[in-house]
Amino acid sequence: MRTQVGIVGAGPAGLMLSHLLHLAGISSIIVENKSRAYCEARVRAGLMEHWVAHMLIETGVGERLQREAMVHDGIYIAFNGEARHIDFHKLIGKQVYIYDQKEVVTDLIARRLADGGQILFEVEDTSLIYDFIGGDPKIRFRHEGREQLIECDFIGGCDGFHGICRPSFPDRALRGYDRVYPFGWLGILSESPPPENELIYCFHERGFALFSMRGPDLSRLYLQCAPDEDIDRWSDQRIWDELEARLGGVRPLVRGSILQKGITPMRSYVTEPMQAGRVFLAGDAAHIVPPTGAKGMNLAMADVRVLARAFEAHYRSGRDDLLANYSATCLSRVWKGQRFSWWMTQMLHRHSDEIDFDTKRQIAEIDYVTSSPAAMTSLAENYAGLPME
Ligand SMILES: Cc1cc2nc3c(=O)[nH]c(=O)nc-3n(C[C@H](O)[C@H](O)[C@H](O)COP(=O)(O)OP(=O)(O)OC[C@H]3O[C@@H](n4cnc5c(N)ncnc54)[C@H](O)[C@@H]3O)c2cc1C
Repeated sequence: MRTQVGIVGAGPAGLMLSHLLHLAGISSIIVENKSRAYCEARVRAGLMEHWVAHMLIETGVGERLQREAMVHDGIYIAFNGEARHIDFHKLIGKQVYIYDQKEVVTDLIARRLADGGQILFEVEDTSLIYDFIGGDPKIRFRHEGREQLIECDFIGGCDGFHGICRPSFPDRALRGYDRVYPFGWLGILSESPPPENELIYCFHERGFALFSMRGPDLSRLYLQCAPDEDIDRWSDQRIWDELEARLGGVRPLVRGSILQKGITPMRSYVTEPMQAGRVFLAGDAAHIVPPTGAKGMNLAMADVRVLARAFEAHYRSGRDDLLANYSATCLSRVWKGQRFSWWMTQMLHRHSDEIDFDTKRQIAEIDYVTSSPAAMTSLAENYAGLPME
């Protein structure tokens, strides 16, 4: 097989890259090691920055999003028995969109296939054949029992944090920057209405909690827990009691049947640079953030928009400066996303069992952030998405 851009991974990054390349008249093939049904059902991100929703709409994959997404003006932060609203729309004129990542993936897969795109699902033993100095890279894999090879001009490494592209880079080509947090999130998906129309972030002496949603009758709720928490120790009753305690009485909590539960460890990671030779990393393959700032899928979308434009400049006018600057362009946004995610995480989580100096300092910070127009504006512009241009 031969294509211009070979893409590893059919998550939001790989699919959107392939879609944008198609609109620019550039061919691509995606290889994905899971099944189509698995990719379309994987419960992950749910919050989309303003510009990402508009990019989906403007590039023709936002029809269902426009019908089904919940559009939020802001968020609530609850502490000391009170929920305070930060209204992004009033402060900066932007909103955020609640639309499940699995719906984004479903829409993009459908669109790529309708446009004649090639996505090879359930491939095995993917590897890159490339010396990182010269020549054209190749992707090798097994599909439907046969060894296959894709020859391409470039590779988009969009295979997530545990993929094979980043580890294929030569030793010392990359440097990783890491922060592991001493807590995780116990997350549930529940058949129940969320306690508020918008997200509620709760700072509570028992630990952080987040009340989010995937629909008017589908709640996505999280509790701060130990990173190695044993999920079997959490009965449904215990989860609901703890959520109710941490909501602190700011809203009534309706309980429902729990459809899914799991533990997510919290980590920040950035690799630099995000490219070597003709291989370009995008999305979680290059960086991950703790979910507190809701930045993961949004940063992945930002990377591939930059990358698609750089490929377009290469093929349309032979300009390679955008490709050469890909890493630097993305990293400037990635580090701002990292800073914001770290900041939200440290401000809202409990760091010790005692009410100590840091607890008092955190409460003062939350009080300030939810009352000063300057501080609220800073939170709003980071949360709803920094400008792309
Ligand atoms: C519990 C949870 C909650 C989250 N909440 C939010 C949120 O609210 N907002 C937000 O913005 N982000 C959130 N995120 C992060 C977001 O889901 C990720 O940042 C996003 O999925 C990144 O997209 P991606 O395409 O880069 O990677 P992925 O979605 O990981 O896609 C990578 C793809 O590559 C495939 N793959 C891997 N290895 C191979 C291989 N060897 N060969 C072929 N294919 C391969 C994988 O199967 C996968 O389909 C959350 C993540 C988790 C886990």
